[in-house]
Amino acid sequence: MARLAQTAGLTDVQQEILATVRDFVDKEIIPHAQALEHADEYPQDIVDGMREMGLFGLTIPEEYGGLGESLLTYALVVEQIARGWMSVSGVINTHFIVAHMVRQHGTDEQKQSLLPRMATGEVRGSFSMSEPDLGSDVAAIKTRARRDGEDYVVNGAKMWLTNGGSSNLIALLVRTDEDAEKPHENLTAFLVEKPSGFGEVAPGLTIPGKIDKMGYKGVDTTEAVFSDYRVPGSAVLGGASGRGFAQMMDGVEVGRVNVAARACGIAIRAFELAVDYAQQRSTFGKPIAQHQAIAFKLAEMATKVEAAHLMMVNAARLKDSGARNDVEAGMAKLLASEYCAEVTQESFRIHGGYGYSKEYEIERLMREAPFLLIGEGTSEIQKTIISRGLLREYRTR
Ligand SMILES: Cc1cc2nc3c(=O)[nH]c(=O)nc-3n(C[C@H](O)[C@H](O)[C@H](O)COP(=O)(O)OP(=O)(O)OC[C@H]3O[C@@H](n4cnc5c(N)ncnc54)[C@H](O)[C@@H]3O)c2cc1C
Repeated sequence: MARLAQTAGLTDVQQEILATVRDFVDKEIIPHAQALEHADEYPQDIVDGMREMGLFGLTIPEEYGGLGESLLTYALVVEQIARGWMSVSGVINTHFIVAHMVRQHGTDEQKQSLLPRMATGEVRGSFSMSEPDLGSDVAAIKTRARRDGEDYVVNGAKMWLTNGGSSNLIALLVRTDEDAEKPHENLTAFLVEKPSGFGEVAPGLTIPGKIDKMGYKGVDTTEAVFSDYRVPGSAVLGGASGRGFAQMMDGVEVGRVNVAARACGIAIRAFELAVDYAQQRSTFGKPIAQHQAIAFKLAEMATKVEAAHLMMVNAARLKDSGARNDVEAGMAKLLASEYCAEVTQESFRIHGGYGYSKEYEIERLMREAPFLLIGEGTSEIQKTIISRGLLREYRTR
């Protein structure tokens, strides 16, 4: 869509990357997304194509073999990919978060060992905080790692690992009991290398199988069960225990910009489908786009697409500048995901009865949009983060 979601001030390189990705989305993703999603089939050819384009290394510094691009470039790429099919953006998202964490917090050995392999897509990351009993309340994590000589021994169950089966590296947050007073200071992040696949993939580590989801199909979302699983002390992210909460939250912060970008992508697609359908479908002697009620819907949808895009770009640019962006990333994620759900719903209504048919793309978008209200922190959690940040800033004396 030429008019909407444009970004001012992009470099030639950014424009070139985006043009290549947009072309890939139009030719290789959109024509296949519906069939692959209905079959819940892993999009291997699409993933291979993304590897060839270097997208797994998009933000990894050039010295480690990546393209060294910014969070903004990444977010705009994700927006395009999600416009084609959200599940494909899910394949690279956890990888991107883990690469960010290794780069920001890893020891030199961890960077040297992992980043070059992550840049090529040989090593693929997943991100594991949530458990069966908790998601929002991260500091309440129960999975434990107990020190045993040079190793740690992990016991417990993790839930909702996006790419849990297809990845071979998990950024894993567990309790290590550092005798700290604050609960979140007793948590440690590990970089767990494991074989990809399902079942008992390593002694003491089982990835039971794919969770059957309402949407976001194709990409695997799994549990992970640890039973006396041994992990070397050298796998502690950054080499020191007790810092895991802050490290994972840094990952989540860039992840939130990415979820906002996904929401923008889905909303753009929902608008494209609606504006197209509204000009083809006639009732009472004229295209439905000429009924003011439908035209106004299109106007409101486009305004929401534009607002969400601008907030997402603002949050990405802020992070790229080195500034803290917790409030702005929370605002962008909140607004973009809520607007995405609304725009998708309106596009569905414009499609009339056909929107309910599995032959029409909007049916899939309707099942994808709700996930964005939940993933990387629910809307309620975003409001908590935003209000805390604001009260810090506007404290009365
Ligand atoms: C498809 C999918 C993929 C996922 N991928 C990953 C992944 O890769 N890695 C990972 O670690 N997790 C992942 N998650 C988990 C996701 O991050 C959590 O589901 C999410 O954080 C919410 O946690 P919860 O489901 O435990 O809900 P809960 O925390 O139990 O919340 C339930 C409800 O209560 C509300 N609530 C909770 N606390 C408060 C509060 N203090 N104030 C007001 N309202 C509150 C919530 O907003 C929500 O409406 C994934 C989830 C899904 C569905």
